[in-house]
Amino acid sequence: MKCRELAEFLMDYVGGELPEDVRVQFEVHLSRCHNCHEYLEQYQATITAGKIACEEEHVVLADVPEDLVKAILAARGARKA
Ligand SMILES: [Zn+2]
Repeated sequence: MKCRELAEFLMDYVGGELPEDVRVQFEVHLSRCHNCHEYLEQYQATITAGKIACEEEHVVLADVPEDLVKAILAARGARKA
């Protein structure tokens, strides 16, 4: 996934609406790309500020620890060839 693609998926990601395979790719990119990581944080901060009442679960969902991402990747990498 490229930075531009990530930006296109950002809204769905924050909303928890990405298919799992896309989300994993998204999170891989995030774990490797500092710029996109910061971009996501800014995006989330904006959303959180506007919809604190109803976005709580989405913020938690997006706040995936890097170790978890790596674990997911390790599991997926096995069949990715
Ligand atoms: Zn990037």
